[in-house]
Formats: sequence, C-alpha cells, structure tokens
Amino acid sequence: NGHVRLQDLRFGYDADREILKGIDVDVPPGSMLAVVGPSGAGKSTLSRLLFRFYEPTGGRITIDGQDINKVTQKSLRAAIGIVPQDSVLFNDTIGYNIGYGREGAGQAEIEAAAKGAAIHDFIAQLPHGYDSQVGERGLKLSGGEKQRVAIARTLLKDPPILVLDEATSALDSRTEAAIQETLRNVAARRTSIVIAHRLSTVVDADQIVVLDQGQVAERGTHAQLLRKN
Ligand code: ADP
Ligand code: ADP
Repeated sequence: NGHVRLQDLRFGYDADREILKGIDVDVPPGSMLAVVGPSGAGKSTLSRLLFRFYEPTGGRITIDGQDINKVTQKSLRAAIGIVPQDSVLFNDTIGYNIGYGREGAGQAEIEAAAKGAAIHDFIAQLPHGYDSQVGERGLKLSGGEKQRVAIARTLLKDPPILVLDEATSALDSRTEAAIQETLRNVAARRTSIVIAHRLSTVVDADQIVVLDQGQVAERGTHAQLLRKN
C-alpha cells in the first residue's frame, strides 16, 4: 500500500478563480512522483491539498482508495509524512528536534528507530551531533541543514508515504544532492512525492509531472522530458 491518486483534482481560493483545473495523477505504491513547473503554476497549492490545509473544490486525493479528507487526522498522520518547505526547529538540541513526539527520545532510542527506518546513514551524516543546541543560543543552521533535520524527523516515523516540498527552498546544490541521495535510498521502500523547483533535481523520479497554470502540461520520465524540450 501507499497508493496515491489525484483524480480530477480541482481547487480555487476564490469561487471565481480556479487554480488547479482538474489534475489526474496515479502514483503507484513505492514509486516517486516529482511535480515541477514555473512559478504560479500551482505547486504550493497542490502541496497544501496533500497536507490537507484545504479541501479540494472538486475531485479528490486518495490513499489506497480512501479519500484523504474523509479519514481521521490520526490515520492520515500515520500514512503520510510531510516535510514542508521551511521547517521550523525548536530552540533545543538536534536530537530533541529529530525525536520530537517520541517518549523519552534520547540518542539510543533515536538510533534504534533510525535503524528501523533505514535512515541511519542519513542521520549519521548530519553535520552536528545530537547534543548540539540549535536556535537563538546555539548553532545557526543553514536552510539545507534545517531541511535535513526535518527530513530525519519525518522519516523516523517511517511513514509509507513521504511528501517533500522543496519548491522554493534555497538549498545549495550539495544539500540538494545529499537529499536526492537519501531519497534514492529511502524512497525505494515508500511512495514519495517531491515538489521541486528544478527538473535537474528530480532525475530519479519514476514519473515527472509538469504543472502549468493549474494543469498538467507534460508528463514523463526525466529522459523523456529532456528529449521533448
Ligand atoms: P507555485 O507554487 O507553482 O508557484 P502557487 O500554488 O503558489 O504556485 O500559486 C498558484 C496560483 O494561486 C497563483 O496565481 C497564486 O497567485 C495563487 N495563490 C496562491 N496562494 C494563494 C492564496 N493564499 N490566496 C489566493 N491565491 C493564491
Ligand atoms: P506530529 O505532531 O506527530 O509531529 P506533524 O505535526 O509533523 O506530526 O504532522 C502531522 C500532520 O500535520 C501532517 O500529516 C500534516 O497533515 C500536517 N502538517 C504538519 N506540518 C505541516 C506543515 N508545515 N504544513 C502543512 N501541514 C502540516
């Protein structure tokens, strides 16, 4: 499981202007979908619907056949892990930030969980130790480092579906490469949806959808899209 489908998905912030104009995408279990497109295309709007910030005005999003707007928050949380664009970290240790929500999550617990979630390498490569303090009185992490902590936090829950919104984050290319590498490793075991700003960052996606003015303008693999353009 972890089968995500967008069916004739429509949304408008105002009744007189439709932003998403009927999107159909099938994301088979265990595959990676990337959504790219120019600014204003509707990528963030789509991610807000996946996050259930808003309800579609038409069509639906389903997980294993179930409308995400008809399940409890609890089961949605268990099914889908979200890494938003600009994750907010607590002014606390990196360990606390990664293990947030877990009872008594010390380093040992986090490491055990990380092993289960097959993200041990990713966590081990974080540039600072678990005990490093971040925020006002501690380290000032770069956008990319924050993103990595946020990804670790989400992956630790081992959700069958991962949604990563990197559409407007200013990640340096090294961080982008590291995140892609991680996704390659963890995505093999789960369904993933990456909202990206550049085609070059989603080479590995099984399926790329190019949004333009709220519609699917093109779809295919990275190689297929390069050939067309
Ligand atoms: P992208 O993420 O691809 O740049 P967005 O989803 O942010 O695109 O924007 C798609 C369209 O929706 C744009 O025309 C934008 O002005 C509009 N829009 C985005 N957010 C809102 C909002 N909160 N209220 C009204 N219109 C919005
Ligand atoms: P927990 O409280 O277990 O740490 P989160 O608060 O990270 O879980 O996420 C729970 C749910 O809240 C997510 O599945 C998602 O639906 C929503 N959510 C979390 N963070 C965001 C965000 N930045 N933007 C939109 N929705 C979010």
